[in-house]
Amino acid sequence: MPEGDTVFLAATRMRTALAGQTLTRTEFRVPRFATADLSGQVVEDVVSRGKHLLVRIGGGVTLHTHFKMEGAWHLYRPGARWRGPGWQVRVLLETAPWTAVGFRLAVAELIDTAREGDVLAHLGPDPLAADWNPAEALRRLVSRPDRPIAEALLDQRVMAGPGNVWKCELCFLRGVDPWTPVGRVPQPEKLVDLVQRLFDANRATGSHITTGDARPGRTHWVYGRGGAPCLRCGTRIAVRAPRDPERVTYWCPRCQPPPGDRS
Ligand SMILES: [Zn+2]
Repeated sequence: MPEGDTVFLAATRMRTALAGQTLTRTEFRVPRFATADLSGQVVEDVVSRGKHLLVRIGGGVTLHTHFKMEGAWHLYRPGARWRGPGWQVRVLLETAPWTAVGFRLAVAELIDTAREGDVLAHLGPDPLAADWNPAEALRRLVSRPDRPIAEALLDQRVMAGPGNVWKCELCFLRGVDPWTPVGRVPQPEKLVDLVQRLFDANRATGSHITTGDARPGRTHWVYGRGGAPCLRCGTRIAVRAPRDPERVTYWCPRCQPPPGDRS
């Protein structure tokens, strides 16, 4: 499941492969842009903002994509076999050395580069951006004190990037019950600081390791470990699965007591 650091890493790889290259063929398999052809234009830059990935192309055009649950960009050498079915392809950007193939992208649209700010205006500070502003992230986080912390952490208007893995792991690492109202979370500034540190630690791998242990089954404290013993206290990890699989919550009832039980 893509999180902000995954998209950041994808943008880094795409930039390395494509920036400065001339597009030799493009395909946009979305109805609105099916006839667009950007071949002959140069890829100027590839950047991420939260979970949004922007490919800036010559002529003042930006390809704006969003991964949502299932999206991914793959890079292939010419003639290499794709690791995904053709019917899931939304965008294809071909250059001489590399072909970038966007699979299952929830959003794929061409916009004026000058209008990038409009599509990203709602986003909160990005922990991986050069202009990361923790004070502003904290202000946005605590602005709705009655909201459960787990919900606030997924709100991209608070911080651009965290997804469900980080939501679960952040609550565990801060010892906070995921349904604690934001206003009762102790030292929320430390939570904001932790978001930035975790993102930074994973910016080169996108592997979301929060335990410091890369062995299978040991990479996360609680995420994906429902029913398994807590790595810290041995209590069974609890799961609450709403209809939206992007919001399933894992937590340790002992390490993360409800606010009233805090001693
Ligand atoms: Zn525990």
